[in-house]
Amino acid sequence: MNTKPLVLIVGKLSKTLKKAIEDNYQTLYLPEEPTEQQAFLKTNSQSITTVATSAAHGMTAELMAALPNLKLVASLGVGYDSLDVQYAKTHGICVTNTPDVLNDCVADLAMGLMIDVARNISYADRFIRDGLWQDRSAKLGRKVSHKTCGIVGLGRIGKAIAKRAEAFDMNIAYYGRHQQTDVNYDFYDDLNKLAITSDFLVLALPATGDTTHIINEQILNDLGEKGFLINIARGAVVDENALVKALKEGKIAGAGLDVFEHEPNTPKELWEMDNVVLTNHIGSATYETREAMAELVFANIQSFLAGKGAITPVV
Ligand code: NAP
Repeated sequence: MNTKPLVLIVGKLSKTLKKAIEDNYQTLYLPEEPTEQQAFLKTNSQSITTVATSAAHGMTAELMAALPNLKLVASLGVGYDSLDVQYAKTHGICVTNTPDVLNDCVADLAMGLMIDVARNISYADRFIRDGLWQDRSAKLGRKVSHKTCGIVGLGRIGKAIAKRAEAFDMNIAYYGRHQQTDVNYDFYDDLNKLAITSDFLVLALPATGDTTHIINEQILNDLGEKGFLINIARGAVVDENALVKALKEGKIAGAGLDVFEHEPNTPKELWEMDNVVLTNHIGSATYETREAMAELVFANIQSFLAGKGAITPVV
């Protein structure tokens, strides 16, 4: 009889992570097709205590409820808006994420988007490839160094962005629910005031009920026609219709966006805009960081199943 603990994989995970789980535990995969899934749950639901999944896939309360002995949901990614953490909390299920190991890469991307959109890097690349250099002169951009970088949500990733922005001699200001005690940056308890003062408003806060559409028409107006919006957080924190409208009407200078309200769909209007840089949710998407994230998912499972508790629990 196989005495190894059982781990259920929900959604897509990397080959390395699947192999680490398969090598150490009995492994089951949740079928995607609804009828197959129902049959699978009928047979296996009682024996499953541990799930490995990702923030990209998430896990609903309905699925957690279908697994009556569930004790751990180990998720790849730092955001947990796609996981029903409230349900888990009230049903004694531990949820883990992968904080810190992705700070550098997400912060690097935020700086990349900031510089790209302000200095027209992607635009210039298209300009050359479209054979336009012969006929036209360069489009002027906006200076990044010495400008004000306003960070919304100065947590782990926000602080990594601030550190990089400091190297560009930027003034750093931030908004959050609390003033941070370990930094000297200018704290704003009023998001409108931060938007008014910022040249670059960089979003690095979680998507929660409280933060849905925290960036609305008024905030974009406050950011103003010389201001850029950079979003590496979650699409839900921005009212995307208001953003498209603000860009169309020249209310803000431009935007660098890694995340969107209805991924993988992105507003077609943005595709036509040269003052917008779009990336497909690639904040943590490097070999090194994805490997570190996978290792942390596995370490959480290992520690929890060995009775030592989770390493990075979110509840
Ligand atoms: P974190 O360390 O928990 O920091 C989050 C920050 O947001 C905290 O400073 C918190 O400060 C602030 N915050 C929380 N609720 C807020 C609210 N209602 N209003 C204003 N500020 C609020 O998280 P992190 O590791 O830096 O990650 C931040 C987010 O980045 C994640 O939740 C995830 O959605 C996103 N992310 C995106 C990618 C990507 O691929 N693009 C990758 C990783 C993470 P206060 O408590 O003081 O408010």
